[in-house]
Amino acid sequence: MLNIKIEKTTAPKAKPDSSKLGFGKIFTDHMFIMQYSVENGWHDAKIVPYGGITLEPSAMVFHYAQELFEGMKAYRTADDTIQLFRPDKNIERMNNTCDRLCVPRIDPDDALQAIKALVDVERDWVPSAEGTSLYIRPFIIATDPFLGVHPSHTYMFIIILSPVGSYYAAGLDPVKIYVEREYVRCVKGGTGIAKAGGNYAASLIGQKRAEDLGYAQVLWLDGVHRKYIDEVGAMNVFFVIDGTVVTPDLTDGNILPGVTRRSCIEMLQSWGVPVEERKISIDEVVEAYKAGKLDEAFGTGTAAVISPIGELFDNGEKMIINNNQIGTISQKLYDAITGIQWGKTPDTMGWTVVVD
Ligand SMILES: *Cc1c(COP(=O)(O)O)cnc(C)c1O
Repeated sequence: MLNIKIEKTTAPKAKPDSSKLGFGKIFTDHMFIMQYSVENGWHDAKIVPYGGITLEPSAMVFHYAQELFEGMKAYRTADDTIQLFRPDKNIERMNNTCDRLCVPRIDPDDALQAIKALVDVERDWVPSAEGTSLYIRPFIIATDPFLGVHPSHTYMFIIILSPVGSYYAAGLDPVKIYVEREYVRCVKGGTGIAKAGGNYAASLIGQKRAEDLGYAQVLWLDGVHRKYIDEVGAMNVFFVIDGTVVTPDLTDGNILPGVTRRSCIEMLQSWGVPVEERKISIDEVVEAYKAGKLDEAFGTGTAAVISPIGELFDNGEKMIINNNQIGTISQKLYDAITGIQWGKTPDTMGWTVVVD
């Protein structure tokens, strides 16, 4: 159990208009901070007014990117219960990322206590309009003032919160995806499996090119054979080929193990829909498309839950999937998972955790 000191703000902000939230632009009144040192381990847990933090310019995070993060949400149900979706999975993944980046782990019970305590203090910030939620961003930074390349001896674990709007203001709109053949996001043995800021820095150039060409996101291919599909931008990716759902497997450690990905697989299995975790090449997808067997494609992630792919652009070739419409399986998964998250349907999977 953490002993969390709470210092409340004396100047609470006005709550924003829930129709103008967007994503990650507005932050709540408070944040959680905890320190790590070799002598004391993780200690000094506090909830304090949201605001700037002071670090030396030599702090290691600025130089060698020893940083990691998580992303999850708190949802308000119709009876004003505030609940989290599978927070244990995010915390487990955070600790796996810690291992990969030589950052000390945080006790999972302490991490959950910190998240719940902060969301509880900010419960009035969880918006209630359709599709809105409170985004939770835990992260860890290396703080030693030192320019040697070595794991830091001191760290800060911080949690900030941001009320976010409905991802789909006008229904589930399919997105256009650009298949990236030049740059790669990560390679086997690298940090693709870790939720690390550095991965995103490396991906910006591909993302920018896709945007310049009018595409919403990049589909990344594996860095070794340059043909197996890894994932889409900040989402995992699924294809429905001839009635079977296929998603890249995690065995090479170059794909981020998404909580939404796992939830889709488990949901599909509970429905008896055939689902395969295996390598899938871009050629297989193109062939399935040409044979008229590529029924659906979609990305999965906390922000959008399900993001239908309406168009794939590869090597000058444009593939329009399912007539640029959301597919049956995509829609069914979206309804089932968001139904549980917002408490509209009974949580038959035992995935929600109430913040009380
Ligand atoms: C966070 C993330 C995802 C999605 O994970 P969820 O747990 O489903 O939100 C997928 N790919 C990358 C690269 C990510 O950082």
